[in-house]
Amino acid sequence: MVEVKPESAAVDWGKVDGDINCPLCDYNLRGLVEARCPECGYRFEWVDLMEPERRRHPYLFEHHPRRKVWSFYRTVIGGMRPGKFWTGLHPAQPSYKGRLVGYWVAANLALVLLVVPVLALMAIELTREFRASRGIATTAYNRVAAVRAQYPTKAAFDLQLDQRYPLPPSKDFFRLLWARSYDRGGGLVALVGIALFMMGWPWVVFLPLMIFRQSMGRAKVKTIHVVRCVVYCSDTTVWTVGMAFVWVVVLAAAMPMWMSTWSVAYRGNEVLELGAFGVVCLFLLVYAWRLSVAYKRYLKFDHSLATVVAAHVIGVLLIPAVLVVAIVVLWAILD
Ligand SMILES: [Zn+2]
Repeated sequence: MVEVKPESAAVDWGKVDGDINCPLCDYNLRGLVEARCPECGYRFEWVDLMEPERRRHPYLFEHHPRRKVWSFYRTVIGGMRPGKFWTGLHPAQPSYKGRLVGYWVAANLALVLLVVPVLALMAIELTREFRASRGIATTAYNRVAAVRAQYPTKAAFDLQLDQRYPLPPSKDFFRLLWARSYDRGGGLVALVGIALFMMGWPWVVFLPLMIFRQSMGRAKVKTIHVVRCVVYCSDTTVWTVGMAFVWVVVLAAAMPMWMSTWSVAYRGNEVLELGAFGVVCLFLLVYAWRLSVAYKRYLKFDHSLATVVAAHVIGVLLIPAVLVVAIVVLWAILD
């Protein structure tokens, strides 16, 4: 006698209308006894595929487009317990590409929100400084004949002002702003770099994961399910930004204990650099852990942790290539 779990009990196909397809690869499962897709290897419960009311998730961002803020908040909170989250979500519940991208954008708004005020403050400071310098130079031009004699016309003087002290929205202004942020310990550069890194990371690991799908006998698994896994883990940025504040505060408090001879300004940069390093490490660890849970519970991969760790290692090796592209693009924009 074969013992079966009640949920996996064999289906009486005579009572089922229409086709029942594998949620991962669309293979027609009609007539099968075993709750396992012969095409892609996915193991499931028949009840999840048969009952339509199980197809709508109680709070998932994809399934509640009319309540975006509420469902985003619930999904972020739900994702904090990855085991429970990825058991509650299953591939038979419909996916929506556009809403997944929407979730990714929303989860990364926290990063943009962090970069924008820093950038805005620096831009305001530099504008103020340049306005003052222009004022002094113009006064000298108007009052001192020797200064006036250096320029053939007033227009030539104005042109020189624009070159030395450009104001927004001129391109030269933003080039100087960027150069200055780099001079001051690379703070802004680091911040923008980390933000881009964390935003792009889901798509960096996505590439090796697509290759593994081919090599692990799960080639038939539809791309959207891999996208679902990397995107619902991308809200790790929300956690990380929160924890980053704690990390920087702890560092700032602990630093004077072992760096009493360092100048205060220098220490500020050290806090920033160590903080940045910590944030990136923390992000990678949490992201890898959550993605491995998704691979185990949602896609039912056998070697979920090994797969995800390997994808991360390849991703880290890809970073230099990604950085080169990012720098070239930035160069082209600023030049
Ligand atoms: Zn299948």
